[in-house]
Amino acid sequence: MSLNDLFTEIILDHYQHPHNHGVIAKPTMSSRGFNESCGDDIQVSVVVRDGVIAEAKFSGAGCSISQSSASIMTDLVIGKSVDDAKSLAAKFYEMVKGNDDNYGEELGDAIAFQGVSKFPVRVKCATLGWHTLEEAFKSGEKK
Ligand code: ZN
Repeated sequence: MSLNDLFTEIILDHYQHPHNHGVIAKPTMSSRGFNESCGDDIQVSVVVRDGVIAEAKFSGAGCSISQSSASIMTDLVIGKSVDDAKSLAAKFYEMVKGNDDNYGEELGDAIAFQGVSKFPVRVKCATLGWHTLEEAFKSGEKK
């Protein structure tokens, strides 16, 4: 199996069996994001306690890239501090834009999206869940 096949398998697996799928009944922060160029629509809700993400869920509809990326994102950020989640998001953006080949293992399964850098229209799909998470943080900070 080539690396590309492995990455495709990770993406399809998260698409078909998304992790942390659903809506948290009483989130401390939530946001909804759209990617009009593809039709992706994602809602992210989180429970943050003492600066740490205790719960994270996503729901919505869209292409396999947007949905699986959101699934992997929730896996990665649960248990992390908000600041760590933001720095992970920044690393992910650099990777999918092809700006950084030096991403560490902290991106976990999200490295499956490194090939997206070759398809600029898909970058918005891959980053939608992360952007929506950051929007949720911003809405929470305003309160
Ligand atoms: Zn998409």
